[in-house]
Amino acid sequence: LCRYFELASGPVEDELFDLDLESIIEFSKPTLKKHKFLNALKILHRSDIIFLSTSVFQPSRLKLSEHRIRLLLANRKNSSRLKEFVSLLLRNYEGIFYGKSKISEAGLSKKFKESEDKIRKALRWLHNNDYGEYHEQFNGFLVGFRGYRYNQKELKINTVKYLQQKEIYIDRLKKMIAYIKTEGCRQKYLSAYFGFEDTDCGICDNCLKSRNGIDSTSLRSRIVSYLKDKDYDIHELYRLFDLTERGEFIRIVKELESEDYLRIVDNLIQITASGRKLK
Ligand SMILES: [Zn+2]
Repeated sequence: LCRYFELASGPVEDELFDLDLESIIEFSKPTLKKHKFLNALKILHRSDIIFLSTSVFQPSRLKLSEHRIRLLLANRKNSSRLKEFVSLLLRNYEGIFYGKSKISEAGLSKKFKESEDKIRKALRWLHNNDYGEYHEQFNGFLVGFRGYRYNQKELKINTVKYLQQKEIYIDRLKKMIAYIKTEGCRQKYLSAYFGFEDTDCGICDNCLKSRNGIDSTSLRSRIVSYLKDKDYDIHELYRLFDLTERGEFIRIVKELESEDYLRIVDNLIQITASGRKLK
């Protein structure tokens, strides 16, 4: 990182740099694999040695030097096309002398009637000739060093902490695999993972599978016929069904509610007019 950004080691101020993965990997010799490089960055981040942002998209930005641009416009030797281009920039991006403005090469290309490639070349030319700073768009990360920039020999990773994190990660991965393989209710599994107790949700694939024995249609008509007689407190109605039917009971009540055949007000279930028409 230090070589890439041309930075010396030692104490540092907080400063964030644009890190374009493709470009630094290209720069690294021997060339590193992308995922390895990214993992190494994450380890450095977790070890508080660098700061690494989540991936970001940075649009192109441009700042121009007022003094230099005046000279450029005043110089007769410069082509009128170049001056037109600079004027276009000044017209389109107010405040471009005062800070980096987001610019769009595509937009400029349309307005200036030149290819995006040419626009980029012109912007790079301005940058390389000290007329301003041009930062091209990139998909990447922001990185910064935390307080101190170590050189290769000084840098020590806390291996105990690293191994602990690895353990945690492996554990999490195992739980995820168990989640995929579980034959019980998946919602219940997730709730348990976060420390909550939950009943079967009745709608995940496993719940649907285990419902096989229960006849949903008859359960549905039983619920409807109870409600045609009178309004029920939801718990009271719930208890009228067998333990094995209760998961399905909840699902059907939700279903009937969403179909507007019943409404639930303060735990009281009432059948609606359209619900009364059900058989
Ligand atoms: Zn479930």
